[in-house]
Amino acid sequence: MSTPLYEVFALRYAHLADRNQGSNLIFPDDHTAPMPLDFFVWVVKGGGRTILLDTGFDADSAKRRERSWIRSPIDALQSVGVTAEDIRDVVLSHLHWDHAGHWHELPNAKFHLQDAEMDYATGRCMCHEPMRRPFDIEQVCTAVRFVYDERVKFHDGTAEIAPGIHVHRVGGHSKGLQIMSVPTARGTVVLASDAAHFWHNIRRRSPFVLLHNLQAMIEGWELCEQLADGPDHIIPGHDPAVLARFPALPGDPNTVQLHLAPRG
Ligand SMILES: [Zn+2]
Ligand SMILES: [Zn+2]
Repeated sequence: MSTPLYEVFALRYAHLADRNQGSNLIFPDDHTAPMPLDFFVWVVKGGGRTILLDTGFDADSAKRRERSWIRSPIDALQSVGVTAEDIRDVVLSHLHWDHAGHWHELPNAKFHLQDAEMDYATGRCMCHEPMRRPFDIEQVCTAVRFVYDERVKFHDGTAEIAPGIHVHRVGGHSKGLQIMSVPTARGTVVLASDAAHFWHNIRRRSPFVLLHNLQAMIEGWELCEQLADGPDHIIPGHDPAVLARFPALPGDPNTVQLHLAPRG
């Protein structure tokens, strides 16, 4: 049986306007140049499966950090014809607060996570405030509870989680960050999540400020490039240009189709 080709969607659920290169990059070209962030979850459909990459931040976590949604990422699933109950596989790229909420709203899902990410989020590095800052303790405690409930599927490196769909540990931004490669009609798309917040990070070799290991981050960019069928097949995790460049779903300007060719 041949490998299915999948549809891939980026669903924007939040936006952070007040950021510039100086707040986002270790080596900014222009400190004051605006560099707003979008927040996404990603849905992959095909071969009778639906896979969710990342779950976004939840209302409690958002309140603690004074952020707000455009919409709940779980409600946003409707726009691609999916209910929370339909989701059997959730891939968590990493456990940062803006990627790892809503565990209890996905009642039938198994959560795919790298060993190194759980080690990181529950181990000695969390004794240090700058390293634990992007984590939410309530979410991490929920993750541990889900391990005890046998709802977490651990990986150590590369694994095929559905026919043709692979996760790959890259680390870098967070110790156990994983990316996902997906075969589509336009070639292999790599959902980089925070391996590259912006196309600027990977194309200009300019690292984002939040970092566990710079060498791993740079080698992660190289792996994204090896796996993807071109520069526009690498989808950054927080870049508003994703929404601008890919065709929107009819009737939903906050959801774009990554299996279709980008504009320009
Ligand atoms: Zn992150
Ligand atoms: Zn993020």
